[in-house]
Amino acid sequence: MAARTVLITGSTSGIGLGIARAFAKAKYNIIFNGLEKNGHEIAAAVAKEFQVDHMYSPANALHTDQLRTMVDEGLKQFNHIDVLINNCGVQHVSPIETFPDQKWDDILRVNLSSAFFLTKALMKPMKTKQFGRIINIASAHGLFASEYKSAYVAAKHGVLGLTKVTALEGAPFNINCNAICPGYVRTPLVDAQIRDQAKSHDISESEVIPRVILQKHAVKKFVPVELIGRLSLLLADEISATLTGTAIPIDGGWSAQ
Ligand code: NAD
Repeated sequence: MAARTVLITGSTSGIGLGIARAFAKAKYNIIFNGLEKNGHEIAAAVAKEFQVDHMYSPANALHTDQLRTMVDEGLKQFNHIDVLINNCGVQHVSPIETFPDQKWDDILRVNLSSAFFLTKALMKPMKTKQFGRIINIASAHGLFASEYKSAYVAAKHGVLGLTKVTALEGAPFNINCNAICPGYVRTPLVDAQIRDQAKSHDISESEVIPRVILQKHAVKKFVPVELIGRLSLLLADEISATLTGTAIPIDGGWSAQ
């Protein structure tokens, strides 16, 4: 069988990059995406390390036309996109009354709407192929709230709704769709939150990790990106057709409480 192709948004940093490495190790062709200035080099280095074909797109999730172009270019290069992983995301931490309007709009677009537009663009080719795997990287904040994260929590709850609808519409066509809900993973996104939360709670950055960030984890450790990569590979597998419409927490026991 020809190598399968995975498109992963936000895959030149953090969790997305970890997922890309897992799929490259499993010999998928990778369509990388992300706004990192050295995105091209990051993508090429992973492809070289694991000897897989790749493409890099700097498509900005704020712009729907750029997302469509990325899909068109990916289909042109690889002929098929078998797995879509909607991972790109941004965060802003602020009380509601001072939460900037533009940040609200941008967070909804990057964290939620981009997943809809990419799913929309790939649904038809996946239906035609009678195979598709869609994985939405939501968050424990898709299941629970924390103060000062109104836009992020709203977007991630929305991602779980989109996941369920996609699972229902995809079911007759061997397309599954699941969400992964990680607790805290040490990435640049969380590093920024550590700084913001320290300011909001008026405590030092070293205090904010155990007292605020990992406070809700029963296991007082950051979730390793490699674990999210392995779970994503399982969800993308042929065997996972009946595993669909779920929201799977990897959260150090946060959701057990
Ligand atoms: P990160 O900041 O390391 O990576 C985010 C990626 O998204 C980057 O590649 C960035 O360039 C890309 N991105 C941001 N805005 C974009 C835009 N407008 N267009 C295209 N790409 C854009 O963050 P991360 O922690 O790896 O987060 C990845 C996903 O995991 C996000 O959806 C995040 O909400 C989710 N998540 C993270 C954690 C955590 O603790 N780190 C926990 C739960 C869920």
